[in-house]
Amino acid sequence: MSSTAEQRKAGAIVELLNSRPHATPLLPDTLASPETAAQILRPFGLPDGELPTAEQLDRVRTLRGDLMAVVDAGDDTDAAQTAWTRLNQQAAEVSFQYALSVAGRTQLRQVAGDPVIGGIIRALADLQAANLWSRIRACANDLCSHVFYDTTRSRTQRWDSYETCGNRVNVAAYRARSRPSRPAVSGR
Ligand SMILES: [Zn+2]
Repeated sequence: MSSTAEQRKAGAIVELLNSRPHATPLLPDTLASPETAAQILRPFGLPDGELPTAEQLDRVRTLRGDLMAVVDAGDDTDAAQTAWTRLNQQAAEVSFQYALSVAGRTQLRQVAGDPVIGGIIRALADLQAANLWSRIRACANDLCSHVFYDTTRSRTQRWDSYETCGNRVNVAAYRARSRPSRPAVSGR
């Protein structure tokens, strides 16, 4: 797998995680819009022109929550263990099989389970195999908590944007400025 393919997978995972409701003021769940959900899930194998089903979205939301729990666990090994156990339960619902052929052409094919869930699990497994999973981090500013891909050599980047989130007092003003047309979130 080329590093470009890896970056694309990382980018798709970051988009998926950022579809969750997060930040203050709250950004709503963007999977609620079928068109946006389709865009977010296309890189994981949702066929072109198809919209995700309600059942599929329920599964994706559960998986998204478990993935986010892994990211949030950070150095807390107990929390990480719990989160990985839950992810393994999700992974158990999909099966893959190697299709062997001419050298270099061997492919891993999904043979059971929801294709989108399988695509997300595969992206996770590929990022882990490439030692890139730990680059997916959540912004340390709890008003933001946006997920980002840490490109630093040391993997110690704390904020998705130093300019806005490295300086806590700027955040509320920035949010207000950058999302003027965002509809009000109803209190649920
Ligand atoms: Zn941030």
